[in-house]
Amino acid sequence: MEIDESRHAGIARGGFALSHSNARSTVGSDREPRVRGRLAPSPTGSLHLGHARSFLIAWLAARRERGSIALRIEDIDSTRVRPGATRAAITDLAALGLDWDEGPDCGGFAAPYVQSKRFEIYQEYLDRLIEYNYVYPCTCTRGDIERAASAPHAGDEPVRYPGTCSSRSAAEAVKLGVDSFAWRFRVRAGEIAWDDLVLGRRAIDLSRFGGDFVVARVDRAYGRFTPAYQLAVTVDDALMRINRVVRGDDLVLSTPRQIALYRAFQFSPPQFAHIPLGYDESGRRLAKRDSSITVRSLLDRGADPRRLIGALARECGLTNEIVPSRPADWIDRFELSEIPRDKWIVTSKFLQELVS
Ligand SMILES: [Zn+2]
Repeated sequence: MEIDESRHAGIARGGFALSHSNARSTVGSDREPRVRGRLAPSPTGSLHLGHARSFLIAWLAARRERGSIALRIEDIDSTRVRPGATRAAITDLAALGLDWDEGPDCGGFAAPYVQSKRFEIYQEYLDRLIEYNYVYPCTCTRGDIERAASAPHAGDEPVRYPGTCSSRSAAEAVKLGVDSFAWRFRVRAGEIAWDDLVLGRRAIDLSRFGGDFVVARVDRAYGRFTPAYQLAVTVDDALMRINRVVRGDDLVLSTPRQIALYRAFQFSPPQFAHIPLGYDESGRRLAKRDSSITVRSLLDRGADPRRLIGALARECGLTNEIVPSRPADWIDRFELSEIPRDKWIVTSKFLQELVS
């Protein structure tokens, strides 16, 4: 099933892109606009040191350019959201001395800054994808996809969706006769490339890695629609005019998917910077369930937030020793391109340094 290109051209003419043209980023143009970054915590548990380090880097990457920052709460996965975690995240970020110019607590032109309050916006953009046949309804179960996948997958490589349902048009969704299905975005063959501010030039062919991806799930029996992360984040970053996205390198494979969505919506993608995540000494990714590494538990155990920031600054390669400090003290010294490329290992010695 082909995307209707003649109608696609109509997206721009019809005012769809034009009505949101202010979302277009013009980074790199003559009229170098202000950098707009974002902090996007998920309220599924407490912020841990890995988040704190990533948010410090994202914050510095915007402030270094005298840019502004939006705080956005990413809570679309309602089954994982913990009550009170949003308030706790805001409290913890503020305790570390990080600030923002727009957010759920202070408002802004793109409010609301909480994803669970933006479902009507996501529906509007999903409707555009449906209208122009960028998506099709997929009724496969996870088991169906794994059984049909042509090649065995290894490591982090996602199971490639084999295209079982791709001959359906978007319009066929109404006569499917099932209560629940997923909207899948048709990816095109060929590499999608971007110049990552940390990793350098990257290019990924989605038709080989993962294939057509889910942008929303529909459950008619419950009258429910749930946007997938890729759709929500792309729409939010575009409408919030975010032009510099700094985030963990676990999301590298999300980036070409989001760029494909930016292209479908005729938005210019932001600059992306993917930074190494934090790991414990046994090589596992830092997890919210490990209370010894949460910002809150460290502060409760007497860690000075200024010492914490000083230690994180050292772990970002900004200094060789722990200098008690505020995030703002590191703005002039910070260079995104100089962030260490290796996995960040949180050692027990490091944890002791924080509370000593
Ligand atoms: Zn399917």
